[in-house]
Amino acid sequence: VVDEEFLSRLRECLGERGLLTAAGDMAPYLREWRGHFQCAAGAVARPANTDETAAVVAACAEAGVGIVPQGGNTGLVGGAAAQSAESQIVLALDRMTRIREIDTDNDTITVEAGCILAEVQNAAAGVQRFFPLSLAAEGSCRIGGNLATNAGGVNVLRYGNARDLTLGLEVVLADGRVWHGLSGLRKDNTGYDLRQLFVGSEGTLGIITAATLRLFPAPAQREAAFAGVENPAAAVALLGRLRAVSGDNVIACELLPRFALELTLRHIPGCRDPLDAPHPWYLQVELASPAQGNWLREALESGLEAAFEAGEITDAALAGSLEDAAAFRHIREHIPEAQIREGASIKHDVAVPVSRLPEFVTRATAAIEEEMAGVRVCAFGHVGDGNLHFNLQQPEDADGAAFLKQAPKANRVIHDIVAELDGSFSAEHGIGRLKTGELIRYADPAKLDAMRAIKQALDPKGILNPGVLLADN
Ligand SMILES: Cc1cc2nc3c(=O)[nH]c(=O)nc-3n(C[C@H](O)[C@H](O)[C@H](O)COP(=O)(O)OP(=O)(O)OC[C@H]3O[C@@H](n4cnc5c(N)ncnc54)[C@H](O)[C@@H]3O)c2cc1C
Repeated sequence: VVDEEFLSRLRECLGERGLLTAAGDMAPYLREWRGHFQCAAGAVARPANTDETAAVVAACAEAGVGIVPQGGNTGLVGGAAAQSAESQIVLALDRMTRIREIDTDNDTITVEAGCILAEVQNAAAGVQRFFPLSLAAEGSCRIGGNLATNAGGVNVLRYGNARDLTLGLEVVLADGRVWHGLSGLRKDNTGYDLRQLFVGSEGTLGIITAATLRLFPAPAQREAAFAGVENPAAAVALLGRLRAVSGDNVIACELLPRFALELTLRHIPGCRDPLDAPHPWYLQVELASPAQGNWLREALESGLEAAFEAGEITDAALAGSLEDAAAFRHIREHIPEAQIREGASIKHDVAVPVSRLPEFVTRATAAIEEEMAGVRVCAFGHVGDGNLHFNLQQPEDADGAAFLKQAPKANRVIHDIVAELDGSFSAEHGIGRLKTGELIRYADPAKLDAMRAIKQALDPKGILNPGVLLADN
């Protein structure tokens, strides 16, 4: 338990600055982004380096105190939400923000877990490289959190998710020992790939303290467009066409319905409709290439022209400048905020094979509209990854709290259709505390048993993020 003796041991490891116990100081670490969870912790430990992190974990292992790791606290499934003042502490990595090394010949950057994602992107740009992980929370989320959740975002289509960008890790294990795995190797077949085990483990197997990440050549050409389409099937066709004409240089491709655009126009300052007339759906696309020249622009223009002739698009605006491109992205990135301002919403972060995405949208929309009268579907997201945020906005003038109570019913309708289409009920946000029941319901039983065995082997005392991912941990 968290008692005076335990706290003074932590104080010895961390010094006064590294340990917060006053309610006011701890408050920012005890908030949960979506307000689904009340938070409580006996203390917030803020180690300055890996040795201090290891000392904290060793102390917790000895005292049997639960550790809730926290990065930027932008996770959407309650994974960083501590639940007990008596038996848990928050372990915040926000003081570990050093960029340890950039190796331009190896195209890698080694950073501490507390580095804010945007700062890693900037550091890469500073040496004419590109770190492609990009999501709307990039100004506040931290690399440790990104890797622990295997974050996705807008550039997965071209560069993969956080897992694909990770070459090495440094991890504090549950007994306080450190695994020094900061390799920058592309080839290393020396047994089980522990790196892949820790990426996406949501703080339940170890504390990520640093990572070696892949870098790419900086883009020399960048293009963007905002196209009106009739339906998701046309969007999928357009994406395929643009990938083909651009030499597979589409780096982001986001689908949004008219309703999502209308919400941003209504609630978000600075949002303008890029097209003159309304369209049922839109694609926001970005292309980039490290090669010099203007051919990407020509490829985009010819691709859009051909798409227009083929009836795939009904209109399109091309970005004439980086500001135009940013304005298109501004719309897409602010849909979640516009949804909050509009009222209550029930969210589903799902993936299906891209080929089945149009069928999913049609079936899920029909099923949920039949189940919940007046519901407004706001399905948007990463069409090239088959990953949609199939969000449900409360009916106009409805009671938000009463609407939210219908979440279990809505989840069943949507997730059952996802399962029938061989999809995933959690594409990029993880399981956290929010979706542990769904995992038990939909996961293959053999997979669940293997996961429990891994958890037992690496964290036999169950001190790492109790209640997250595996509800029985
Ligand atoms: C506006 C908005 C947009 C978003 N868009 C996307 C998106 O496009 N794609 C996407 O994938 N996500 C998205 N997210 C979700 C969120 O930003 C990501 O999950 C992000 O990767 C979390 O990083 P964080 O540092 O905030 O982690 P936190 O919220 O602090 O933690 C997340 C999980 O990781 C664990 N953890 C944190 N740090 C460590 C560590 N060092 N070692 C071990 N475990 C750790 C925590 O215990 C928790 O379980 C979005 C969130 C918001 C608010």
